[in-house]
Amino acid sequence: MSASEEAKPDRKAADSPPILVSACLLGETIRYHGGHARCEHPALERWLAEGRVLSLCPEVAGGLPTPRPPSEVADAAGGEAVLAGRARVIEKSGGDVTAQFLTGARLAQALVRKHGIRVAILKEGSPTCGSSYTHDGRFLGVHIPQPGVTTAMLLQEGVRVFSEAQLDEAVACVEALDRSA
Ligand code: SF4
Repeated sequence: MSASEEAKPDRKAADSPPILVSACLLGETIRYHGGHARCEHPALERWLAEGRVLSLCPEVAGGLPTPRPPSEVADAAGGEAVLAGRARVIEKSGGDVTAQFLTGARLAQALVRKHGIRVAILKEGSPTCGSSYTHDGRFLGVHIPQPGVTTAMLLQEGVRVFSEAQLDEAVACVEALDRSA
């Protein structure tokens, strides 16, 4: 299994549930354009050192190659509508990748249920991992306040989802959950 699908955490150093993190934020070169989006926040470094990070790229885990054409949820519908079967995910080149996006989201759901994940740090703006915003399906750079497909799935599972720009809030959330466990 490739690192972009699932990297099993070393659980020796941590008894608390793992934190799910977009693989591209950890430096994996699996983004649609073949690059990464490494985030060097000290909290991520600490969780990695503690063996508390579970890395996942839902698009690659869902069967898409790298590089791949950029994709957006059509008709400004957002990830929740995709999960409900009311919207499609379309590549800029015209291909329909809804099935792969749904497979990736279901794999993330399975990880949440298997490991008791309560917090995720996901790449902002992605049609899969976006939380505060994604794009409207016209490939014009227009933001809409809708989650990506995997983010929508995690939110349905009760996971607290933060972007790489919200790591301080994520740390506070993780510490509060750890205290209450
Ligand atoms: Fe994969 Fe999500 Fe990063 Fe896109 S944003 S490359 S789907 S982990």
